[in-house]
Order: sequence, then C-alpha cells, then structure tokens
Amino acid sequence: MGTDRSAGAVSENEAARLAERVESRLRSAYGAATRSSLDPLDELVQTVLSQNTSDVNRDRAWANLRREYGSWEDVLAGGRERLERTIRPAGLARQKSATILRVLETVREDGAAGLDHLQGMSDEIALDYLTEIRGVGKKTAACVLCFALHRPVMPVDTHVLRLTRRLGLVPAGATAGRAHDRLNAVVPPELRFSLHVQLIRHGRAICRARRPDCARCGLSDLCPRIGLEGA
Ligand code: SF4
Repeated sequence: MGTDRSAGAVSENEAARLAERVESRLRSAYGAATRSSLDPLDELVQTVLSQNTSDVNRDRAWANLRREYGSWEDVLAGGRERLERTIRPAGLARQKSATILRVLETVREDGAAGLDHLQGMSDEIALDYLTEIRGVGKKTAACVLCFALHRPVMPVDTHVLRLTRRLGLVPAGATAGRAHDRLNAVVPPELRFSLHVQLIRHGRAICRARRPDCARCGLSDLCPRIGLEGA
C-alpha cells in the first residue's frame, strides 16, 4: 500500500486515493451524509454541548436552552450559574457554560447578532477567529465551517482520529491537531464533509475503540490494522 513505515501512514499521494475508496465504501454501506440546517452560532453552541457526551444528552441540554431563554442576549444577561444549571444534562456544565458565554461576548463585542459574518471570511481566517475564543478548539471551529457554512473543512473528532490512524491516513501517533492539518491537506475537498460523517458512523457501528469488529468490516482489505484488537 506504499506505507510510510516510519510514520505509520500512507504517503500523501496515496492518501487522497485511499480517502476516496473509504468514503465510497462507507457511503454505500451507510447512505449519503446530510448536513444540518443550523446557523453558525447555533452550530457552535451545539458543538460545545456535544463535547464528551452523547447526542441524547446534548439534545436534552439544547432543548433546555431553547425553553429557558428567548434569545442569545437573554443567555448573556442571565449569567453563568443560570446557564450552567440549564445545560447540566450535557455534562461539564461549568466549563461549557463559560465557553458559550465567551462566544456570546465575542459576538456582542463585534457588534453582531450571530456568526453570519464568518461567511465573508476565508476558511483560514474563520478558523482563527473561532479558535481565538478560549474553549473553542479546532474541532469545534471546523464543525461550524463544515456543517453551517458548508466549507470544505474536515472536523476531527475522536472517531475520525481513531479510524484515520488505524487506516493509515494519518500517522499512528498523530494528535487531533496534527490529524486535522494532514486530513485537510490530503483529503479531496469535496469528500471532507462526507468522509467525516461516514467515519463517525463506521466508528460507532464497527470500528469501535475497543474490540473493533474487523470480521464485519467493509474496509478490512484497505486496513493495515485489521485483527489488531483495540488497534
Ligand atoms: S479492519 Fe478493523 S481496525 Fe480496520 S477499519 Fe475495519 S474494524 Fe477498524
């Protein structure tokens, strides 16, 4: 497969072809990916709520938030303790409420009603703008660009990191930050959104963190880590 053995990843030239094959097979298995219709600020807050919790808990916290407040201005005016209580189902409520308030303060300081002004920024500048807000990391910023702005930016969450390491799309020891940079350089832009979604689906269904079900995996002939339990 032309593996760069020292780094544990295929060469950059081969990575694009491998990404195409993986995306195509997973799309056949799981169906086409669909984008959310959230605006950029809603997407950012939902992504913050999603950190280290399940979709069910994220959705409970989001529903509480919508029920408790009439607007983002109300959230800002209500203060941190009230917000922390409201989003408690998502876990890490103290940390997440502080991040959400910093986002809303940034929006207010910029004289904006939301994050629609990101539309006028390049991908790089929009990522920098968001990640300058403490608590907003590359993955969260990339989700806003990918899902709400429909930009060709591939977020790297825990499933994407694990699967791309196992498949050799990124080096075995790559950090999430390094994986973000490499994947967004080697994966063809038109595949980044779909590949992100499909890898999450496959990571939940088959290529789990513990005991991946390699015997049922449709990528086994492409995967150098097949059969390595917990690889
Ligand atoms: S063969 Fe196993 S380790 Fe490789 S992608 Fe499939 S489930 Fe994951």
